[in-house]
Amino acid sequence: MILLTLKKGRDESLRRFHPWIFSGAISSFSAQPMVGELVAVENISGEILGYGFYEGGNIAVRMLHFGIELPPVEQLLKEKLHTAYRLRRTLRMTPEQTSGAYYNDTYRLLYGEADGIPGLVIDVYGDCAVMQAHCSGIYSYLPQIAQQLQRLPEAGIRFVYNKSSGTLPPQMNSDNIEDGYLTAAIPPKIEPASEQGIRFMPDWEHGQKTGFFLDQRSNRSLVEHYAKGRRVLNLFCYTGGFSLYALRGGAVEVISVDSSARAMELCERNIDLNKFAHPERHNAIVSDAFTYLNEMPAHRHDLIILDPPAFAKQRKNLPKALNGYRRLNALALQKIAPGGLIFTFSCSQVVTPNDFTLAVLTAATQSGRKVQILHKLLQAPDHPISIYHPEAEYLKGLILLVTD
Ligand code: SAH
Repeated sequence: MILLTLKKGRDESLRRFHPWIFSGAISSFSAQPMVGELVAVENISGEILGYGFYEGGNIAVRMLHFGIELPPVEQLLKEKLHTAYRLRRTLRMTPEQTSGAYYNDTYRLLYGEADGIPGLVIDVYGDCAVMQAHCSGIYSYLPQIAQQLQRLPEAGIRFVYNKSSGTLPPQMNSDNIEDGYLTAAIPPKIEPASEQGIRFMPDWEHGQKTGFFLDQRSNRSLVEHYAKGRRVLNLFCYTGGFSLYALRGGAVEVISVDSSARAMELCERNIDLNKFAHPERHNAIVSDAFTYLNEMPAHRHDLIILDPPAFAKQRKNLPKALNGYRRLNALALQKIAPGGLIFTFSCSQVVTPNDFTLAVLTAATQSGRKVQILHKLLQAPDHPISIYHPEAEYLKGLILLVTD
């Protein structure tokens, strides 16, 4: 196996289980590795620290194992999948632990580095697991992982879909990679799945991410908690996750807005699936969210959700992104009725919670309204954050009360 030697003093973060080696920390390789190859990592004194996938970018290596010996990779992956499943059981999210009105068969089974398998996401919808690989090294193990997923006791996974063509890094040259099932069996048709008793159609073949935004689960419960008697506006709604919870929570009106007509079609289907007592309280509108906010009358809503796509994917776009968050929040703050709640989010990893709060503070100052922070929000706990790898924290949000 090719040996990577770190520069002097650059082994400290690895000793603290940080899972990435940046290219600037590398002193030498015993031979040139191929992209995706497993390499052994040693410090300048020749002490082996662990093993990781060589990726060839700025994040040059993503660690798979810390320790002197590398166990057989198949066994390692199996153990990590079992540990990850146990964590979701601890979270009481797996189907056999839930029932009735809160039945749940939708959860993130594996969140990359946080669960010890770098660059791999696995989301479960009923009996189908959807995998997205973000690193080249793990890609060749996907068929093996698909087999192991079907053997996870009690998980009930029968189908595994690989949706990595859009997420693999550019250095892998993924032009010929196609998405598709890794299991011999293919579901005859896609069935609705349940998140805490809310039914929806996951759309892994054509939808965004793996088909649904699982990271907002806990925040959706908070919308349900506060929705009673409120007139809700769900901006950037995608397939209506927050709207479904608002209706279950007793909102008197819910308007869902997204620029994607396809997402809005699914949103309406999801409303029908849930057989709410008052489906007529929901309206789906295809529109740009900024235009909609600009044009709507003031005080029309007293609960507004702002969950835009990442305004910055890279650090160089940070100032522009912060300006975008400021503008969006300023508009919502101007328009919301007195006593209203704003659920405001940013899923840009490069925007820190402090940056985001500052952008919202600037917006509040511009609006001149009285604003209190009631909750600080985070991604759901099936997207855990290794304490050694703060980069895994990406979703942040605030619930604001606008008092006058
Ligand atoms: N809140 C959603 C996830 C939002 S993802 C949920 O809980 O599932 C971001 C969404 O914003 C996408 O559906 C995308 O189609 C939409 N979008 C992007 N730019 C937009 C714009 N300018 N106006 C309205 N919607 C937009």
